[in-house]
Amino acid sequence: MTGVGQKLFAVIGGLFGLLLMVALMTLPGHGTEPAPEADQIGGVQVVSSLDVSALKPGRYNFYFDAGWRNSGQTILVPVIVLKGAKPGPRLLLTAAVHGDELNGIRVIQRLADEIATDTLEGTVLALPGVNQTGMNANSRYYVGSSGGGFMVDLNREFPGRTEGGGTAELFAGRLWTGLLAGQADIVVDLHTQTQGSAYPLFVFADFSNSTAQEMAYALMPDIIKNDPGQKGTLETTFMEQGIPAVTFEIGAPKQFQKEMIDRAVAGVKNLMIQQGLLPGTVRAPKAPPFVGSSYTNIYAGVGGIAVLHVALNQNVEKDQLVAVLYDPFGREIERYYAPHDGRVLAIATDPLREAGAMLVRILQ
Ligand SMILES: [Zn+2]
Repeated sequence: MTGVGQKLFAVIGGLFGLLLMVALMTLPGHGTEPAPEADQIGGVQVVSSLDVSALKPGRYNFYFDAGWRNSGQTILVPVIVLKGAKPGPRLLLTAAVHGDELNGIRVIQRLADEIATDTLEGTVLALPGVNQTGMNANSRYYVGSSGGGFMVDLNREFPGRTEGGGTAELFAGRLWTGLLAGQADIVVDLHTQTQGSAYPLFVFADFSNSTAQEMAYALMPDIIKNDPGQKGTLETTFMEQGIPAVTFEIGAPKQFQKEMIDRAVAGVKNLMIQQGLLPGTVRAPKAPPFVGSSYTNIYAGVGGIAVLHVALNQNVEKDQLVAVLYDPFGREIERYYAPHDGRVLAIATDPLREAGAMLVRILQ
């Protein structure tokens, strides 16, 4: 072999070695593996933590890795971020914390499509489907498999925990620490009534926080309930940290109610104008909301078939007939009357009522 030939052979040999090294490094279990953050599913990046302040203006879709199923597979929670061209407040929207309450999912999808990030001042962090195990199981609850299966109300588990026992608490804790805490200045948690019942467009808000009170009115609901909240809910967990938060109840579960969704989209946009995320003028609702602070549930005394005599969002007077319960043959069992004046806040939509099931809820 000539000198030139030897050099050429050495160069080719060196290149071959380099290619072999690169090939080995890309094989599973060799060399540098891709960071978990680089994982993608259907073109959507999987993240185990997210800092919205680090994102450039634009729209982003992510899957947040929020824990594990019993098979070892991860529970992926979808996340949409709208990062505005200008700085401003950070709004958090969450939907389906109860897995059968679906209208809020469509509200978030609509807002993500309709809001242009070049006119947005601030950030929208939106979770269109928080309780993945409940959604999979058609259930309000976080549905676990341990001990033969269990169901937990996820909206009593926040801020959760990051170690120790409690499957639902761990799920809540991963969401809280990796995604929610420190990333919102204002919060709207989107719900509906539970299966077999319905709400009008309705807001839970704690008026001791003046911004939460303003937000409740900006959403243009039929009814507002002013109350101090409930431990473990997303609303109250944020409020305890001084972050204004409201729970927005949008109708009935397990369906998309177009009129309710349209009104909720308009309400959230109005709130965004009020809080400085969108340009425009804050709208007043067509009719002012009914505002109350306590309600009474009227329960079926025995099991039976209920016929209601009131509609959602209707005014009622004390002693007004609200429902009649019948036996399977249509014979009357019991009559139910309003215990006080007020507004019908919730109704049973499923006529089959077991003893102790709610028939009508009246707010005063
Ligand atoms: Zn709910």
